[in-house]
Amino acid sequence: MPRPILATVHTDALRHNLQRLREAAPGARLWAVVKADAYGHGIERAFEGLRGADGFALLDLAEAERVRALGWRGPILLLEGVFEPRDLELCSRLNLWHAVHCDEQIDWLAMHKTHQPHRVFLKMNSGMNRLGFSPERYRAAYARLAALPQVEEISLITHFADADGDRGVAEQWAVFDRTTQGLPGERSVCNSAAVLRYGQDGALRGDWVRPGIATYGSSPDYPAHTAEQWGLRPTMTLSARLLAVNTVAAGGRIGYGGAFTAEQPTRVGVVACGYADGYPRVAPTGTPVLVNGVRTRTLGRVSMDMLAVDLDPVPDAVLGSEVTLWGVAANGAVLSIDEVAHAAGTVGYELMTALARRVPVVVQ
Ligand code: PLP
Repeated sequence: MPRPILATVHTDALRHNLQRLREAAPGARLWAVVKADAYGHGIERAFEGLRGADGFALLDLAEAERVRALGWRGPILLLEGVFEPRDLELCSRLNLWHAVHCDEQIDWLAMHKTHQPHRVFLKMNSGMNRLGFSPERYRAAYARLAALPQVEEISLITHFADADGDRGVAEQWAVFDRTTQGLPGERSVCNSAAVLRYGQDGALRGDWVRPGIATYGSSPDYPAHTAEQWGLRPTMTLSARLLAVNTVAAGGRIGYGGAFTAEQPTRVGVVACGYADGYPRVAPTGTPVLVNGVRTRTLGRVSMDMLAVDLDPVPDAVLGSEVTLWGVAANGAVLSIDEVAHAAGTVGYELMTALARRVPVVVQ
């Protein structure tokens, strides 16, 4: 018997979310962002649910090769461009589009002997101060690229720092819009939060949108909006089973450090899931969890391979009962990954991408 823990990737939910994002940015073409191994889902496992996208945006050549190996002949975009000059060769062979965010990447292109001209996405640092040319230097970079025989087409791209927060996108959008006035080329600016919040704005949504997290059923601005409120469905379920059912006497302490003390006799379930599976160790007592599809809470500190849950709200729970750490239970009840992440002081992105290798995954 394998250890009773399992992750499930929900193909229909991926399809549904993609469609929801299309409706939120009508007329725009849509990159499915599959970096970080499709946000922890696995590129190959998520592919069927995402093949309705117009392109795949990802991080490196290895991921691009995997998408091509799945038979995808359409656009693939390297979001950070190439990391060294020799990458350009494979980039050409795989027919990848790539971001250009610094002078060195332009130098490498200028030296590159290519048979197939490149399509590049010139990245502007419109305020995030991570990657990209400053607005002051952007048009000069554009002119340099435009003069290269190696470059066939230039598109314009920037990334928002706070599309999910109070500052929104207005300031960065104004910088991008002003700086790119009159420059030919397709535009791409919107991540998930920007698609959902501003995708109805025709200018802002541009030609291509790049939603990642919302595709995977997590709300980009939780707790302001839940995934359900955005019309998104969970695409990953992490479930396990009860390994033991104990009654802990009043005053009994649970787990390492005795971080939780039972005030009254308490039925406690021990679950086959711990931080070595990707469940956050910092999740405190009270983090929500479903047992037999009924909502209850964790108790005490998360161990490497196990965690404890309160069974008082679930009197029918026995050894082997189903525990849903996040996602969808057998009875259809949903526990959003955002709720669990929030309780642990982090975000859905981190939980998805931290799913451990040792957890078996099935596609449904
Ligand atoms: N575009 C770029 C350049 C990114 O770096 C990311 C992810 O961080 C995305 C799009 C997708 O963002 P999100 O997952 O917030 O939709």
